[in-house]
Amino acid sequence: MEINEIYKNETSYFSPIEINERYGLTFIFTSSLKKPSKEKPNDFNLSFNAEANPIKVMENRKTILDLCSIKTRNPIIFLRQTHSDKAIIIDEDFLSKYKNLYLELEKPASCLENREAVNKIIKSIPEGDAIITSMPDIPIMVFSADCNTVLICDINLRVISAVHAGWRGVINNILNKSLNLMIRKFGCNQKDLMLFLGPSIRKCCFEVDYNLYKKFKIKFPEAFNKNEITDNSNKYFIEMIDILKYQAIKTGVKEKNISIIEKCTCCYGKDLFFSYRRDKKAGRQAALAYIQENINESN
Ligand SMILES: [Zn+2]
Repeated sequence: MEINEIYKNETSYFSPIEINERYGLTFIFTSSLKKPSKEKPNDFNLSFNAEANPIKVMENRKTILDLCSIKTRNPIIFLRQTHSDKAIIIDEDFLSKYKNLYLELEKPASCLENREAVNKIIKSIPEGDAIITSMPDIPIMVFSADCNTVLICDINLRVISAVHAGWRGVINNILNKSLNLMIRKFGCNQKDLMLFLGPSIRKCCFEVDYNLYKKFKIKFPEAFNKNEITDNSNKYFIEMIDILKYQAIKTGVKEKNISIIEKCTCCYGKDLFFSYRRDKKAGRQAALAYIQENINESN
């Protein structure tokens, strides 16, 4: 399925429009670009990382919902990402425990003006790097700057997942773990699973040391034929997207149901994306998934 590149309200983002029109699901990958000005060209940071201004972050999160015409009273659910292989299911039980915590961040600026209060809330948010839900009207989000983001859906059962996978997540199979949870706990069928891989650091820029290169090669020998480039200066590069694709296909996902945004966060365009490797101090772009409450019956 095509992932469309969209420029709306002076903001750049990517979204498979067909998934919205046919299945009532909203999937979006953001860039760093929002209302560019001379002073602040790239300002679409979506994470409460240390350098971020919490008020601005929350404004940006609202902007995503506006761009996708998501009108919900529920908060955006995200996790404290730790490069783990942990997937969290969002259900009634999760919401009864944590919903108020997320709502606290979305309340009028009083809390957001106080960085310590924000940090305290963030510390109480559960850890994990993948989110799965079958609940309509709950936006789920993961963020990254170079790491991979994967949005998944079972188009038949309307189960969705958002996965954050840096090299640690890739090597620890977080994608397989999330897919297997969707299959085992939600009854998803492999043939109905569609995967969308967001922009991330690609082989052109993802140079690693020999030890890490070897680790990947031992763990994923079948996925490795395309990853091997060693030039005279003994540099090693890994194409993580190939490995994610390999992991998905091994779990039973059809290759034709995997769509990839072929853009490297580190070198594509003029800083269209946040890149940790390029800039060290960087904001985060996001991948957001949402099940609309009503599917348009005429579709
Ligand atoms: Zn690159």
